[in-house]
Amino acid sequence: MFSPNASPAPPCNPVGPDLVGMGRAALAEEMAAFGAEPFRARQLWHWIYHRGVTDFAAMTNLAKGFRERLAARYELRRPEIATALASADGTRKWLLRFKDGQEVETVHIPESDRGTLCVSSQVGCTLNCTFCHTGTQHLVRNLGAAEIVAQVMVARDALGEWPSPAEGRTPGTPALAGGRPGVTNIVLMGMGEPLYNYDNVAAALKIMMDPEGLAVSRRKITLSTAGVVPMIARIGAELGVNLAVSLHAVSDELRDQIVPLNRKYPIAELLQACRHYPGSSNARRITFEYVMLKGINDSPAEARELVRLLKGIPAKVNLIPFNPWPGAPYECSTDAAIAAFSDIVFDAGYSAPVRTPRGRDILAACGQLKSESVRARRTAPAPAPAA
Ligand code: SAH
Repeated sequence: MFSPNASPAPPCNPVGPDLVGMGRAALAEEMAAFGAEPFRARQLWHWIYHRGVTDFAAMTNLAKGFRERLAARYELRRPEIATALASADGTRKWLLRFKDGQEVETVHIPESDRGTLCVSSQVGCTLNCTFCHTGTQHLVRNLGAAEIVAQVMVARDALGEWPSPAEGRTPGTPALAGGRPGVTNIVLMGMGEPLYNYDNVAAALKIMMDPEGLAVSRRKITLSTAGVVPMIARIGAELGVNLAVSLHAVSDELRDQIVPLNRKYPIAELLQACRHYPGSSNARRITFEYVMLKGINDSPAEARELVRLLKGIPAKVNLIPFNPWPGAPYECSTDAAIAAFSDIVFDAGYSAPVRTPRGRDILAACGQLKSESVRARRTAPAPAPAA
């Protein structure tokens, strides 16, 4: 039982179990075990995920004694923001530090009609794609569901996006100051391979999609995979989010080299899984990502082969200019090569936009994440030499 304490109650118990990251069922179970009535779990859900409060005292429709009991037992945890950077183009990047000191990066990319949050699923990555800086780092660990959800919550904190009590507004609607979009879209395209951490990613996505909480529609969420074939059908069947596939090469010979996961799941098997992706249609096409590497995968013949491979799949192609990183063994294709490649794919009836690099100046663009922070940490113990 809660015993009243003379000193002021802390906002929450910093070593208690974290309520943030619990799904609906887990929160209901937790509250039942705590002796609270079922509607309390629903109220808490609203405060945590719709209003984003981090202090039990702010939950004004709960009785004061109950708030104090909650605060004495539980935490409402946010990861620490170790670094926050803003690009000249408006992109923002947060380096988040979790309780055990591990760090990941989350990126917010504002556009006129949307704000996309690029979320990480692992600390590091196992895939070792040769053009990706994250891939040159080892996998440290999977993120838990709470740590994946927390990335959205931190972004909403930083963007000032939680609705105030007076507003009936739903978070995610572009109603911030000056019409600036907050988080309307989520892409699992940060650090890590989401399908190698499927259970936690799925639990996190279910929380993000809950209409009474973070309320991001499955149509506005895209999961990107390098092609973990046996897991692909589950994304469509269990989560119903959009699928993006990092293809990057049209022959197994090249893909084996640049996306080594291809040795396990070659192109034909990957495309077969895409052909059967539940819920894909012309209205909901699968995105194929294709990084443009000069002289490696960017010839007109490869564009034509790509078109041939995609036949029968409701597809669009996203051409990603290679984002350089220190020591990278590649260069970005020329603008002319990218345009010629795009034209061939487009003329075959596929949308083939070239992804505008965003946040390159803060190493926030595709394939650049985490690199700077790892280097900084490695060199941290040495005294900084005078410039
Ligand atoms: N592991 C998943 C999620 C990462 S998504 C996946 O591979 O899909 C990150 C996207 O950026 C992937 O399409 C990846 O291939 C691409 N990418 C990686 N390094 C890049 C670089 N240096 N320049 C441009 N795109 C890159």
